[in-house]
Amino acid sequence: MAVPLVDLQAQFRSLEGELLGALQRVLRSAQFIGGDEVRGFEGEFAEYCAQVTDGKSSPTFCVGCGNGTDALYLTLRALDVGPGDEVITVAHTFIATAEAITRAGAIPVFVDVLPDTLLMDPDAVEAAITPRTKAILPVHLYGQLCDMDRILEIAERHCLKVVEDAAQAHGARWRGRRSGVLGTAACFSFYPGKNLGAFGDAGAVVSRDEGLIQRIRMLANHGRVEKYTHEIEGVNSRLDALQAAVLRVKLRYLDGWNEARRELAAEYLRRLQSAPVGLPGVRPEAEHAWHLFVVRLEDREAARVRLKQLGISTGVHYPTPLHLQPAYARLEKQPGSLPVTERAAEEILSLPLYPELPLHVVIEIAEAVRSLAAMHPFPSRSANHERAGLSAVSSS
Ligand SMILES: *Cc1c(COP(=O)(O)O)cnc(C)c1O
Repeated sequence: MAVPLVDLQAQFRSLEGELLGALQRVLRSAQFIGGDEVRGFEGEFAEYCAQVTDGKSSPTFCVGCGNGTDALYLTLRALDVGPGDEVITVAHTFIATAEAITRAGAIPVFVDVLPDTLLMDPDAVEAAITPRTKAILPVHLYGQLCDMDRILEIAERHCLKVVEDAAQAHGARWRGRRSGVLGTAACFSFYPGKNLGAFGDAGAVVSRDEGLIQRIRMLANHGRVEKYTHEIEGVNSRLDALQAAVLRVKLRYLDGWNEARRELAAEYLRRLQSAPVGLPGVRPEAEHAWHLFVVRLEDREAARVRLKQLGISTGVHYPTPLHLQPAYARLEKQPGSLPVTERAAEEILSLPLYPELPLHVVIEIAEAVRSLAAMHPFPSRSANHERAGLSAVSSS
């Protein structure tokens, strides 16, 4: 067995003709920056994000940009988040989340996550609010939206903006609504390995606030209002036409791919239900996009090595919480300050998951994980799981 964590070649093979056609269209037009492909994708992605399960969608707007990190940065800047402001976010995320905050000049305030979903803990957010707090930046990690009922309610009560890091949650929903029609704005990455991935770096912001999207568009294009009239100093962070053309093709398959991920995740959950591993918690309000399938193991490193020997690649998202990264030593957060986050970082293991992954391989991986866990029973497992609020049931 040789199973990668993700397989981008399989996806390309399944759409090769269509994707090459789209690239050819752009090359022939020689319209590489802006133009119809970019506007086309922005309109289609805005519409996609506005699709609600009860059928009533509100007008939504989208602007493409260079990558997901820039999407976050540009949104914060367009909302006038800057020096002296605090932005509440999580440490259990990719560093891009915090980089965007500091690059805007603001201070990231890290709060802990919930033990079952590993997503932002709304009570911790409430406790972290100060007079300097300007925005909440929830991260929809692994493809599940955070508790947006609570987060939006807290934000409203304290007059805070909600900037969603939806880099891992294309197509995911909370009570039938997608990022883009929940908070102030939602920021997406189309990094190749994301649920919707480009052929390089790309990103976008989606919001119901058309004025905000216009400000981001200006900031992302040198602060331009006309070709050589610069209202403010901006940056160069545009979605290019080749990436837009690729994304337009792939967007049509996103729901199908997410459905395939859901079926494979359901199989993992079924097969591992009684195994001595911690399973990802899913809220009833959430329609999960399963960007990653993350289990928890007492001896994660040993399991990783053993699975590798069996030909199964795994990942760790993420091994060091941001507050303990050398890059954020200046924030002076001590080990132990975010206990749920820190514990999770030691135990989490991402198993292979991508739409083209055959079901029988998922079954084999699940069986390998199950027997591995049974062979090396995790000593203090039940106590830990109780403490962490995990749902796994012991088989021993
Ligand atoms: C991928 C990712 C980003 C950054 O996106 P890029 O397009 O790589 O800049 C931000 N936040 C999270 C949670 C991500 O997974």
